[in-house]
Amino acid sequence: MRAVDIIIKKRDRGELSREEIEFFVRGLTSGEIPEYQVAAWAMAVFFRGMTARETADLTLAMAHSGEVLELGDTVPLAVDKHSTGGVGDKVTLVVEPLVAACGVPVGKMSGRGLGYSGGTIDKLESIAGFRTSLSTDEFKRQLKEIGVVLTGQSANLAPADGKLYALRDVTGTINSIPLIASSVMSKKIASGAQAIVLDVKAGVGAFMPSVAEATKLAKLMVNIGRHVERKVVALISDMNQPLGHAVGNALEVREAIETLHGDGPPDFREHCLEVAGHLLMLAGKARTMKAARTQLEAALSGGSARAKFKQLVAAQGGDVRVIDVPDLLPRASLIETVLSPRSGCLSEVNAREIGLTAVDLGAGRAKKGDPIDHAVGLMIHHKVGDRVQKGEPLFTVHANDPAKLAAARARVLAAHKFSVKTVKPLPLFYKVLKRR
Ligand code: URA
Repeated sequence: MRAVDIIIKKRDRGELSREEIEFFVRGLTSGEIPEYQVAAWAMAVFFRGMTARETADLTLAMAHSGEVLELGDTVPLAVDKHSTGGVGDKVTLVVEPLVAACGVPVGKMSGRGLGYSGGTIDKLESIAGFRTSLSTDEFKRQLKEIGVVLTGQSANLAPADGKLYALRDVTGTINSIPLIASSVMSKKIASGAQAIVLDVKAGVGAFMPSVAEATKLAKLMVNIGRHVERKVVALISDMNQPLGHAVGNALEVREAIETLHGDGPPDFREHCLEVAGHLLMLAGKARTMKAARTQLEAALSGGSARAKFKQLVAAQGGDVRVIDVPDLLPRASLIETVLSPRSGCLSEVNAREIGLTAVDLGAGRAKKGDPIDHAVGLMIHHKVGDRVQKGEPLFTVHANDPAKLAAARARVLAAHKFSVKTVKPLPLFYKVLKRR
């Protein structure tokens, strides 16, 4: 078999066999297939798509490119959540300790930023010393001891996804349904979660622009989960405007910490409670969402969720002082609040434009392996539907370069659209899909 023949077959609309997919994934993992061929293949998949069978085969080949954790001997039932990516999406930082504080073990393998969408691993690295690459033994030991783990792709777990993900980020091949489905589900299968909540984003700031496409992606992932006997629930959520206020790594960690302290923006807190509620239900810890919320709200107000986050940060070598003193997180040298140029009702707060601005400020990568600036980003003070007065703070730019600050000011201002009429707030969620 030759990689070039597999690329040509996909380019010419062929359906790849399981053997061809396994050969390709083996080659990309070992490095025998060079990155330029992997990139060409990803572009062919982007344009030609994959059947459900090809996607399932790709998912399993990627999951088995490393170790597949069997957690049955470590904890009774491990749960996990995964978002398909968005702007200001720091849900994992709150939901994982929150659910663990309610007695449900969560072991998660997260990703880095992808395009304009931030990544949990980059965010966590804003905390000095936090280790995001754990060995399998460390993963299992920590899950057993404190019930919560947050790690990145490693040489052991789904290494094929680690390589492909980084390449897709810089080759224009992110928003492909089969590539997203296999990326997400391979990580979930490899990290051994038995019950999974998928947060599938729809909107201008998501990889799936419409609810219909997000639903297609969600159904595919739910079916892959069923195939490998995992319990999966998919939520279709809005990503037309950023979630919460903070966009940018350290700013988002700070907002997550505030939420774990019982504060935080109402939309973000509500989003976290909904995702966490489904996780408690899947784990059999609550029979209704109402009962789940009672437990979760108690964990937030009583401080056990925050204490769990502290345990997690300590276990992975991070500076736990940031949880009580968030000012210890990286801070930008230039902080400027931009005032609203007019009065009106906000009809658009474009998440994509805001995500791209954060990348330009240095919060994301232009090319694979680029360093990122954890301190920079944006605080977006209002939501669609809010009535804003002229002269009121609209957003705050955190920058380390005056030229970038000026560019961000203009771009984020243009990302806000005003209406003289009343505008309805955007929903947080559109629908819930469960395993049939
Ligand atoms: N999240 C992932 O893990 N992979 C993708 O491709 C997109 C979002």
